[in-house]
Amino acid sequence: MNAGKTLFLAAVAGVVLLTYSPSYAVSAQDAEKFQKTLDELEALQPKKHQHGGRYSKAFKAKLQQVLKAAQVLLDQHGVRWNLDPANSEIILITPLRSGHSMNQTAYGVQKTMRGLEVEYNPKELLGSDASALFEEDRGRLIISADDVQRGEIGSFLQHELRHALLQNRLMNGRDTVFFGFVEAMPGHTIGEAPYNQQFSFDEIAAYSVQIHFLGHELEVARRAGNSDLVNTRAKEIQWAIDVVTPLLNVLEVSIPQALTTIEVMEQSSQTTNPWLGLSKLESVLGDDVDCSGFSNGAAGLFFFRNDVQFKNHKKSVVFANIETGPVRTVVGTVDLGFRNNLKVATDRLKSDGTSVGASDELAPVIRQVRRKMLLLRDRLKDLKQAYADLTLVLRGKRYDDVIERTRSIKHAVVDQPQDLSSYP
Ligand SMILES: [Zn+2]
Repeated sequence: MNAGKTLFLAAVAGVVLLTYSPSYAVSAQDAEKFQKTLDELEALQPKKHQHGGRYSKAFKAKLQQVLKAAQVLLDQHGVRWNLDPANSEIILITPLRSGHSMNQTAYGVQKTMRGLEVEYNPKELLGSDASALFEEDRGRLIISADDVQRGEIGSFLQHELRHALLQNRLMNGRDTVFFGFVEAMPGHTIGEAPYNQQFSFDEIAAYSVQIHFLGHELEVARRAGNSDLVNTRAKEIQWAIDVVTPLLNVLEVSIPQALTTIEVMEQSSQTTNPWLGLSKLESVLGDDVDCSGFSNGAAGLFFFRNDVQFKNHKKSVVFANIETGPVRTVVGTVDLGFRNNLKVATDRLKSDGTSVGASDELAPVIRQVRRKMLLLRDRLKDLKQAYADLTLVLRGKRYDDVIERTRSIKHAVVDQPQDLSSYP
């Protein structure tokens, strides 16, 4: 079920987004050189099926050229950096309280997100086919090549920052409606690559924030009368809409299906208790993750005590695991005061290994899971409408309306503290 490892697939490198608009305060020649060496590096990248294979000498030599070219640009922008002491193939952005905005971002991220560092790591980006990345396990945010060119944080890092922010909330023991994921059952696919096997609900929030950031950039370009840049931003927004729409479509179908499954099981449980007349206890997953759970094939509740992710808080995590056809919808929720109930339920289950009459203990868990699904379902409705409105505005080239539309999109993904409690 793979819940112990959180995947934050970043935005894929869009062709549109790699075009460089030479309007920034760096030498055009140096900017071109950076782009050229980067293209050459990409051509030397080992093929996907050789993943885990060796990088050639030519690749390593070219990588050094890319890093040098990036350093030249960062210097010209006035961004302070140093090489990672542990890995000379990585440029770290120096965290500074004042100075260049990129240094300030690195400072803010480090202060507020558990020491998260900001780096430029072309090898990692190429290897993951991403424009920017949030690597939770490494505690790193990786800026895009475009950020290096521009000397400022662009939309892809905004996307990754959103992932980091949500993850940080979870680690602090706060739940969010975008905590969960969908995955394809074996032999099936969902959505579109790179999200065709699994994606986090989080992507919806991350792309929405990214789109609003692009909307803001479009507005700035529009006010400056730079119609080329307005067109570029419009294309970038359209690209992001095209990536996130299939994900919205998957969720739009899978969330109501999962809700129905839960309701059916709850209704029938009044007599035979199938929600809990469940199969035997699922066992421990790994060294650092305790997992116990109930399932009956269509749905299950799994309880994790994940000491890696939550080592400072010893939080429990519950995943409701609901299978409907080719899709498994996994709604995650952080320990919200029902840990004792879970303990009672799982202890009873352990004692005979087959079944428990623990519906009282589990009722609050199921209620919380359902609340999250209801909230997400309503959010998805708002989002679909907001995305449809934005698409119309873009098609009609009504660029002065874009910022208002992207603001609605961002608004629909902001967590409100009272959100969950307003559902039964
Ligand atoms: Zn993402």
